[in-house]
Amino acid sequence: MRVHFFTKIQINLPMSDTIAEIFHTKTALKAADLKHRKTINFNIGRYNAVVPQGKLQFKNIELARERAKNTKWRALENLDTQLELFEKNFTARGGKVIWAENTEAAIAAILHICEQKKCKMLVKSKSMVTEEIHLNDALEKAGIESVETDLGEYIQQLDGEAPYHIVTPAMHKSKEDVALLFHEKLGTPLHYSPEELTIKAREILREKYTEAQVGVTGANFIISDTGAVAVTENEGNARLCCAFPKTHIVVAGIEKVIPSISDLDLFWPLLSTFGTGQKLTVYNSIISGPRQAGESDGPDEMYVILLDNGRTKILNNPKQRESLYCIRCGACLNACPVYKNVGGHAYGATYSGPIGSVITPNLQGLDDYKHLSFASSLCGNCTEVCAVKINLHELLLDNRASSVAEGQSSFTERAAWKIWKLASLNRGIMNLGNGALKNKVVNTIFTSWTATRAPLDFSKKTFNELWKERHPNG
Ligand code: SF4
Repeated sequence: MRVHFFTKIQINLPMSDTIAEIFHTKTALKAADLKHRKTINFNIGRYNAVVPQGKLQFKNIELARERAKNTKWRALENLDTQLELFEKNFTARGGKVIWAENTEAAIAAILHICEQKKCKMLVKSKSMVTEEIHLNDALEKAGIESVETDLGEYIQQLDGEAPYHIVTPAMHKSKEDVALLFHEKLGTPLHYSPEELTIKAREILREKYTEAQVGVTGANFIISDTGAVAVTENEGNARLCCAFPKTHIVVAGIEKVIPSISDLDLFWPLLSTFGTGQKLTVYNSIISGPRQAGESDGPDEMYVILLDNGRTKILNNPKQRESLYCIRCGACLNACPVYKNVGGHAYGATYSGPIGSVITPNLQGLDDYKHLSFASSLCGNCTEVCAVKINLHELLLDNRASSVAEGQSSFTERAAWKIWKLASLNRGIMNLGNGALKNKVVNTIFTSWTATRAPLDFSKKTFNELWKERHPNG
């Protein structure tokens, strides 16, 4: 194997830069990074090649998406009763539910459990919600080793990076990048193949499951009528995180609820097919509590932390509410021309791509994150591929409208639209000067537009002049 040595672009940004300015700098750099673009487009291309095959398993894919959307609508419209039903059923089998209003409450609860269990090491399976609450940082500060057990997450943890994609955390790395990383961090030979690297990771991780006092997983679905959580994965590592440690903690956003266990026969294939093209993900587990009398596997104690962290704010917004239907399949990221150019890290948020640009401003504040809703060409490709038919591009537009309504547009932008409106309503102004003069004036004033786009090019003649030429008799 030829090993390609790569250099990471270190971006040192002044602390005074706003989140939006940092985003603009990062995206400009990433868009110009051809190696990055080649790797991500190669990896996304592999998914795009198999997703259409996976979709063939549905007799009527549109109906399946529609049903899934309706099911999530029903669950979210009755979220309070659905969650209480889950709690009642889950606690009946010995599980414990913790309601966490925000990051701080969730972290405090996890650290409290770890303290009680004298936890020195914890094993984790891939979970975006634990990224959202920055669990690993909190554990590290508390002196607890947290080991990521999903291979992609393990690679990212070794490299000190956050996940790059909600389904494929190390999507931006080539196999040569991973070989080099393992060589530097674990001392494996540079020529190791992906299979050999996987074996090495497995050797290290297997021991951790048996040593860890606590296992942490996310949940793909919270099932109300059974009082269980469903976890989907390809490597079996989440099962080991649940089965070996004496304590299992699940962290789940409250929007993950589905009404019934029978809904899984729709959601499981949708999640796998739209994400990776698989008919079904390799391991699908339904976990309904700690080990019961007579059972041989499972933890002594199981906790489910139901995290709000801004979700009820979204629920309160009738238009944005449907963004909570998301099942995190990742299809909209793979379809997005912006994501494919700037990649997951440039967003500077846990959730990237179209769904990230919709929910992040609503979860973390429009003032800091509204720029993400402008990071879209509004081509609508995201809406077209969404497994649960979320109108993503319309929600992006709605975020933009909200930011304007909250008075968050810049003075230049407001002035520009005022001038535009005035000119559009006044034929005399429209007819002032020829195309060349308009080009000069507009392209000199709107420099923030022309900084990243081709200059505006007005027609040589005005509409009025063209009309008169074509209709000389009026
Ligand atoms: S918004 Fe739709 S396409 Fe994007 S991750 Fe969520 S379910 Fe998948």
